[in-house]
Amino acid sequence: MTITFHGAAGTVTGTKHKLTLNDGRQYLLDCGLFQGLGRDTDDLNHDFGFDPTQIEALILSHAHIDHSGLIPRLVREGFKGPIFCTAATRDLAEILLFDSAEIQTYETEHINKRRARRGQPPYEPLYGPEDVKTALELFLTFEYDEWFTVGRGIKACFTNAGHLIGSAAINIIVEEDGETQRVLFSGDVGRHRSVLLPPPAEPHPADYIILESTYGNKHHDIRFNTIEELQGWINRVCVERGGQLVIPAFSVGRTQEVLYALNQLSLEKRLPDIRYFVDSPLSLKATQTIKQYASQFNERLQQVLAIDDDPFDFPGLSYIETVEESRQLVKYEEPCVIISASGTADAGRVRHHINNILGDPKNGVLLVGFCSARSLGGQLLGGEKEVEIFSDAIEVKAEVGQLPGMSAHGDCDDLCRFVSSQDAEKVRAVFLVHGETETQKAFAAKLELKGFKNVVVPAQHQEVVLTSGSKEAEAA
Ligand SMILES: [Zn+2]
Repeated sequence: MTITFHGAAGTVTGTKHKLTLNDGRQYLLDCGLFQGLGRDTDDLNHDFGFDPTQIEALILSHAHIDHSGLIPRLVREGFKGPIFCTAATRDLAEILLFDSAEIQTYETEHINKRRARRGQPPYEPLYGPEDVKTALELFLTFEYDEWFTVGRGIKACFTNAGHLIGSAAINIIVEEDGETQRVLFSGDVGRHRSVLLPPPAEPHPADYIILESTYGNKHHDIRFNTIEELQGWINRVCVERGGQLVIPAFSVGRTQEVLYALNQLSLEKRLPDIRYFVDSPLSLKATQTIKQYASQFNERLQQVLAIDDDPFDFPGLSYIETVEESRQLVKYEEPCVIISASGTADAGRVRHHINNILGDPKNGVLLVGFCSARSLGGQLLGGEKEVEIFSDAIEVKAEVGQLPGMSAHGDCDDLCRFVSSQDAEKVRAVFLVHGETETQKAFAAKLELKGFKNVVVPAQHQEVVLTSGSKEAEAA
């Protein structure tokens, strides 16, 4: 068997890993869209590096677009196999993929204007809503901890990854040529102290581990209390200075965490009496879907549900749906909090709001998730005095900051804990994916100290042969 890394290699986006059995059958783990890599992004998304018609099946860890966003493209290019995931992942992927199809159409127009200026032929949109519909017919859902057959001699089981409702680590057992090999793909690993979700479940023992490494060299600061910090920001920006606070947040997962924190403040009668807006139609749909899976929330949230039937809604909160309403909100001048996507501020309606408030020191931009240095969020956090939005240079005068400790990704300790039940001696290799190269080097050293002997940071499209134990013994 071989594994090839067709995305999330030295970067945190475009997750796609391909297992190829000795008889040539190919299976894909995740099929994510590349985002925010500047000019490289379009080319990476237009070339899988493999033939989609040759893929037998896809196993999907969770619904986030950097893991699911190229599924409709895979289907458009001829993939016809089953797509295995949990039920919540399927429901969230449906919302996210239709939204992504709309964005593809819109963005391709912009990309093609640029390509025309360079004398390059136009790109077609990566996919449209009809490709999403076709893809959704291929989804097959399974519960956590339920083994299912992926193909002849290959079975898999989802264990809860605690990163997003429905998120899973994928445990795979391959039997071929009289040998058994076990592969664990972490997907994205959540935190042991998640606001909404239970801690990641213990995965099954593995010979090979494909492990995310987003925060492989970082410790989330747990001295800070998210709710207190959030209240501090709202008091300072909106109450004391009369400004507006813009919170860029991913529509699925992070927005609900922020709403939950605001709801807590509201329940405790500590929430300042101003307007709160969620400007993302996607967030409204995602919140409704996530509520359908309330039984998967952690114990603390179950207790909240006993006294509050809607932990994501509170007096003063409004959802903005249409583009026209969003434009009106840009003109709103009263103190308020605006939660809008995307989380890195690279795309979506939040750019209009940031553009609108950035030049006034009474306002604030509060980032609540991972932002790579190249993203607009990353540039703001890096202290840039001027940033480019919609091709204009905008002076940064508003207060910019980050909510420490709020993340759907586990930190170094969470990742180590995720693999702590593995027998490091028996694990033949750990492949670090979904991280930036410098982070991965530091994390690799840490894992080696814990006894994992062969920690590899694969390059894009790199293929690795997974040898079984007896074959190595034979070679020796
Ligand atoms: Zn994710």
